[in-house]
This record gives sequence, C-alpha cells and structure tokens, in this order.
Amino acid sequence: MMPKHEKTYLTKANFMLHGGDYNPDQWLDQPDILADDIKLMRLSHTNTFSVGIFAWSALEPEEGVYQFEWLDEIFANIHGIGGRIILATPSGARPAWLSQKYPEVLRVDASRVKQLHGMRHNHCFTSEAYREKTEQINRLLAERYGDHPALLMWHISNEYGGECHCDKCQSAFKKWLKNKYNDDLKALNDAWWGPFWSHTFNDWSQIESPSPIGENMVHGLNLDWRRFVTDQTISFYENEIVPLRELTPEIPITTNFMADTHDLIPFQSLDYSKFAKHLDVISWDAYPAWHNDWETTADLASKVGFINDLYRSLKQQPFLLMESTPSGVNWHDVNKAKRPGMHLLSSMQMLAHGSDSVLYFQWRKSRGSSEKFHGAVVDHDNSSENRVFKEVAKVGETLEKLSAVVGTNRTSDVAILYDWENNWALNDAQGYGMQSKRYPQTLQEHYRAFWDKDIPVDVITKEQDFSSYKLLVVPMLYLVSEETIGRLKEFVANGGTLVMTYISGIVNEYDLTYLGGWHKDLQELFGINPQETDTLYPKDRNAVLYGNKTYELKDYATVLDVHSAVVEGQYQTDFYADTPALTSKQYGEGKSYYIGARLEADFHQDFYGKLIEELAIEPAHSVKHSEGVSIQVREDQENEYVFVMNFTEQQQTVSFGATVKDLVTEEELTGDLTLEKYEVRIVAKAKND
Ligand SMILES: [Zn+2]
Repeated sequence: MMPKHEKTYLTKANFMLHGGDYNPDQWLDQPDILADDIKLMRLSHTNTFSVGIFAWSALEPEEGVYQFEWLDEIFANIHGIGGRIILATPSGARPAWLSQKYPEVLRVDASRVKQLHGMRHNHCFTSEAYREKTEQINRLLAERYGDHPALLMWHISNEYGGECHCDKCQSAFKKWLKNKYNDDLKALNDAWWGPFWSHTFNDWSQIESPSPIGENMVHGLNLDWRRFVTDQTISFYENEIVPLRELTPEIPITTNFMADTHDLIPFQSLDYSKFAKHLDVISWDAYPAWHNDWETTADLASKVGFINDLYRSLKQQPFLLMESTPSGVNWHDVNKAKRPGMHLLSSMQMLAHGSDSVLYFQWRKSRGSSEKFHGAVVDHDNSSENRVFKEVAKVGETLEKLSAVVGTNRTSDVAILYDWENNWALNDAQGYGMQSKRYPQTLQEHYRAFWDKDIPVDVITKEQDFSSYKLLVVPMLYLVSEETIGRLKEFVANGGTLVMTYISGIVNEYDLTYLGGWHKDLQELFGINPQETDTLYPKDRNAVLYGNKTYELKDYATVLDVHSAVVEGQYQTDFYADTPALTSKQYGEGKSYYIGARLEADFHQDFYGKLIEELAIEPAHSVKHSEGVSIQVREDQENEYVFVMNFTEQQQTVSFGATVKDLVTEEELTGDLTLEKYEVRIVAKAKND
C-alpha cells in the first residue's frame, strides 16, 4: 500500500491551487484596477497568488527606505476573499539604486564584459553586497508577513539561471576547485588532461573560467565550471533562505524551475537534481508551444509528460505548476493562442502527472514594457467576458471538484534515467554528430513508447534508488562513474531489466575516457564490447532486422563484438551488414539489453511492447482507446484518479472496463464514451472495486 503523501506544503490548504503571479506593484497608482482585481479573482475561481516577484523597487524605493503598506493591503484584500499568497523574495530583479551603489552585483559575462544595469536575473551570485542586501529584505518580509494567515509558501527569487565571470566568481571557482582536488594541482591537471596542448598549470592563479576569448575546449574544466555554477547558485539561494528558515520554519520553500523551449527539454544550465534537495516543493514554469507546425499535439503532449515525470521524480512527490499561460506567450517565435478547450486539457495534463496547481504568469497583462502581450488571466479589456477569461474560470471550477486528488502520487514500474552532467559532457564532446546528439530528445523518444501504452514512467536521476523498478532505460549515458556502473550491475543482478544504448559508458565523471575497451563491468553485464560507433550524415539510413521486421536507423550505429550475449537484431547494410546491432544477456536474476543504433519509433513500440509483456508491466488503467489519447493515473490508498485526455483534433472513443465516477460532472460512466477534440475527463475508481 502506498502511503498518502504527507501534505507538507499544504498545511494550510487542501485544495488545488489556482491563480498565479500577481504584480499589483505595476498598478499602485490605479486603485480602481486593484479593486477590479479582487472582483475578477472571485469570478475566475482563483485562490492563490504569487506576489512580490519583481517588487523590490516598490518595497525599497531608496536604500533603507521601506514601503510595505501597499503589500499589507494586498495581503488583507486577498485574505479577505479566502485567498492564499505565495510570497516571493525580490532578488530576481534589482532596483537601479542597488546596481549604482554596489556595482559588484552586476555580472561579467564569459567574454569578460561587465554588464550594465537592466533586464533581470543579471546578478553576481558571489557578491557579498548582493547576498547581504537580499538577506536583509528577505528578513523584513519574513518578520512582517511570516505569521500572516494568508501566507502559504515562499517563492525564492525567480527562475535562477545564468553565470558570472567576475573576479569574485573567479576566486570562488578556484576555491571550489582546491576543495574538490584537495589542494592538489597535479590531480586537477590529471583530471583535465593538462599536457594536451600544453595546458598544464603550475599555479592555481592561472586557472580561469571558460571563455570564448580564452579557454573553452578543456572538457574537464567546462564540466567543473558547470558544476560550480550550480553549486554557487544553490549557495546564493541558501543565503536567501536563512532568515526564512529562522523566522518561518513551518512555511515551505520553493523556487521555480524552467524548461528549454522548442523541444521542451529539461533546463540545461543548472543541475536540478542537486538543487531539488534544497527545496521543500518542486515547482516549474511550463510553456509548451501548443498547435505548432512541426509536430502533432500528441507528440508535444508526450514531451510535456516526460518533463513533468522528471520534475515530479526529483522528489517523488507532487509538484506545482508555478507559471503557465492561459493563451499564448510573448517570447516564442510565433505566439499562437491556445485553441478552445486546450487550456483545460493542458492544465489537467499537469495535474495528471503530479501537479497540485495551475498557476499563471501573470494575473493581469502589463500595460507597457516587455511582457505587455504575454498571455494573462485579465487582458487589457479588464473584462470577465472574453474567451480566455472564461476558459480560466472553467479550469477554476474544474479544480474545485478535484481536491481529493491533492497530495496523491503515482507509482511506476518503469524508470528512464536522465543526467544533467551527462548532457553537459555529451554536448561538449567534439565528436559524433555535432547536431545529432540530442540526448534529452532521445530520452523523449524512448519515453514515447510508454506514453502511447499508458505505462507510467518515472524519469529519475543517477543518485536515486533503482531497486523498486522492473525496467530501467538508460539511453546515451556517455558519462558514467564506476559507482553508477556498479549500481546498474547490482540492479540487474537483483532481478531488474536494464536497457542501454549506443554512446554509453564512454567517459568517467572527469570526462576522461575509459581505457582498454569498454569498462570490464559493463562488458560482463552486457556480454559485449562495443568496437566503434559510426556517425551517419543526416540523410544516411541503415536498418536493423529485429524479430521478423526491419526497422530504419539513423545518426548512430555501434559495431559490437559479442562474447556472451544473445544477438537479437542485425544491421542490414554497409560494412557491418549482418553483424549484431541489438543484444540481450541474462545476468544474475535479471536481464540486460544493448541497443546499438538510433532506431525509429516503431522499433521502440515493438521492443518495449515485448518487454512490457514479458515483465507483466500493467498500464496505469485499463481504458481502451485509440492513438493520441493519454491515460495517466494518480492514486492514494483508497482511490485511483484517472485522467483521460484526447490530444487529437478528432473525436475519440474510450471504453471503460468498470464503472467509474466522473469527478467533475459526478456522472457514473461505463462502457464506451466519446471524447470530443481536446476533451478531458477525470474519473475516480475505488481500488477495492
Ligand atoms: Zn560574479
């Protein structure tokens, strides 16, 4: 039995959060607008607002001169309608006076150009002055609002990211390196392969962060720099939360994570697997480009599923959708409006994968400046009668019926492993195809086979426990430490099934290649020794015969020397025609598979379909349906909450095996049900039925 998730972040609420970033500081001289906000909040069925994210200049217009009265009033007004506040610390954007008086807070970029004041997120994470100033204002906020009954959570800064190369950061980096390499410069030179191009250092002072005008091809340096940037960002965050932990220990803390857009892959520049350990709740900002012209709605929905399953799995607990848009954004290449129905569907998909909220950026569209056209709940017409507002209100009404789902979790027999460090090292590697590595996208392709079959997946990181999964899928794990290799071996020895692919097990955690062939433990585990990986031009194709079918391959084909594995598939053409492309091996109580080539989606469907059957992995729920419909389940000890989602532009029919209850309409459903284009149904089923 699965324990009900401890609702740490909902000690003051047991409802789905609906609302978003509220920036009244843009409207302080317009009391009529602020009064309308409160009316419109009721009409939109919203209940939670993130306040103060960019409000530093409204809170402290001059150094040491504070204006909290407006925020007092916002707290009172939101509390007055039963709403909750996620209070932000304002470090995401500084007032001009701060940059002017303490220029050290401004970043220096990788080309060593000192940045001017402006934009946001443009601060040195090492600067003592900036750390002191943020701690000061955060302390005042905690003192003033820590006991306010409307305060639900802390929102630390905003979308941490980027890096600084100033002198202070250079010193901090050197200190970090000395600590990592135990003050042993030879160890660092060894790890970074110093003698190559005469890059050996004989004094710590010679080391600098990577730069386009200096060093940028020492892979070990690049990797350590990226690790340092994550650690330094976390260190800055930890400094921000000191007064909050001290004064409001019961108020949970989050910061909003991001995704890299277009392919909707995990945010690249910070290692969120490290950051997650410092948060009470994961939250993230999701802006999928729905209705785009390069993929189907189902293609994109599967990618949204993948990234949600990664961010949920970071803490194995529900997360929050901190930002989204009820319509288009303003920063995609094309900012298309969500079609009718898509807002409810896309919001419910977030819940289906573990979110306990639907929150927006932002509540009211700005009148001027950069984000005046970014989708918002309240448009420039200030009306509750437009289409977008009505769709938001419908989401609100739906969420009000779903409080039973709050805090429930998901269970999975399948895990896919994602690793930030691997992604950095692989992208940095000068070799293979410079454009075709696409590590996160490759994971999304493997994930798709499970998504299409309604098999729940956890997307986990390498530190997490593997033992509860029947199947672990590890594509393109180029960088892998001996420790991780040992844990993969143990997983299979104890009965797990492991799938690995081409370009795995190539370098260790210092980005140094393994010598003497593939690592001996991997050779033993898979019964093979990969010989060479052929990188193909974009138009090149080969094929693999697997079972009775031939599947197309592109980009990569690894030639395998098989010594104690079963050959499951062979290459069809080229100089390695008829040689092994896919192998399996019984190892201990479990089984390992190695896929040598980048194969088409049909292969993933058939290959994983067979494994799912052999391992008796059950779909989340036995609802029969056609392609493009996604079924995702959240559950607690008593109930399953089944999200049935039509990600196609056509009517679809789904068949329920047993009688279920529609949580929104409260109808009893059985047998066939027609889903309209983009329709979503959320049904409950008691586990003992
Ligand atoms: Zn700096």
